[in-house]
Amino acid sequence: MASSTYRCWVEVSTGQIVANYTAIQALAGPGVDVMPVVKADAYRHGAAVVSLALEAAGARWLAVSNVEEGVGLRLAGVECPVMVMGGFFPCEREALATHRLTPLVHSMAQLRDYDRFAGERGAALPVHLDVDSGMGRLGTSESAEAVAEGIRGLRHARLDGLSTHLASSGDYTSTQTEEQIAKFAAVREALRAAGVEPKWLHLSSTVPVTHARREAWGNLVRPGLAVYGYPGLCQGEAPACEVAVKPALKWKTRVLEVKDLPVGHRVGYNALFCAQRPTRMAVIALGYADGLPHALSNRGRVIVAGEWAPVIGAVSMDLTAIDITGCPPVAPGGEVTVLGSEGGLRQDAEDLARAAGTISYAILCGIGRRVKHVYI
Ligand SMILES: *Cc1c(COP(=O)(O)O)cnc(C)c1O
Repeated sequence: MASSTYRCWVEVSTGQIVANYTAIQALAGPGVDVMPVVKADAYRHGAAVVSLALEAAGARWLAVSNVEEGVGLRLAGVECPVMVMGGFFPCEREALATHRLTPLVHSMAQLRDYDRFAGERGAALPVHLDVDSGMGRLGTSESAEAVAEGIRGLRHARLDGLSTHLASSGDYTSTQTEEQIAKFAAVREALRAAGVEPKWLHLSSTVPVTHARREAWGNLVRPGLAVYGYPGLCQGEAPACEVAVKPALKWKTRVLEVKDLPVGHRVGYNALFCAQRPTRMAVIALGYADGLPHALSNRGRVIVAGEWAPVIGAVSMDLTAIDITGCPPVAPGGEVTVLGSEGGLRQDAEDLARAAGTISYAILCGIGRRVKHVYI
């Protein structure tokens, strides 16, 4: 296999990503389009390969965060509409238009400006408008009347959609999601009364999709994490997850060296580990520069020959030491599983995130640039 020469790599199953997308689209039903989110290099699964696979599987939209990511998809050959969700600067308007990217605009002033720009270009450029229904970050918080007036004043740009982003969608102990849905509905009603009816309405990222909060679906949903196989974490009395998605990425590295440590032997920076008993140690070929969180120093574990091997000492930039005393014999070059299953054991990004005190998103997006990608 091609991976045999790599010291640290991820194996990405595009088939599993497509299966996840297909399952999500089946749950959403014919009246709701699924727009897979492929920002941050498709959560490090590889934006170009993943996007082309999703498009070939029928995805009618894709979403990225910034203009550069959108341009990257076009250069890779993606043809479907691509939404740029995370804001843009005036100097990026030209690239949006040239590459047929659909920006989410986040204020009425930006909408007016983009309308002027569309006029200068002589093109009916499509935009979606983001409403701040409670996220409190980007998105317009002007009154529905002001929003309606602004939209009616458009001369060149074409408002195709209205969106909002939910701040606490996984937290079923909070009423924030209902409040946000109600606020969004009120804006939409006021627009309708003013004769403005955007074609696309979208509010939901992973959790409201996987846990079927249908009142938050509109006619377009924006799942990211679920496409990569994670249904999202919930607090409180969440309804059941209604879609079976599975992780599509395995993260592997190799043993560089095996050593038997006598009692008292210290390992790594600041001697965070000192052998209390004879210990068989392996040094593996990944560190925090590859995305293994430094917070896993003396915490967390990987899988070696079908057994757990705890991290010992400090995770360093390029290397990590693990305790393989309880593992079957392993030689330099042997494979180590950071994310994935091996034997009867399994570790996913949620597990690793919990050990590191972070979130699965940060584990996936944090997989380093020098980690190779193998598509299976
Ligand atoms: C990242 C993002 C999403 C996808 O979020 P997931 O939790 O990964 O599903 C959806 N919408 C917006 C605006 C985003 O920024």
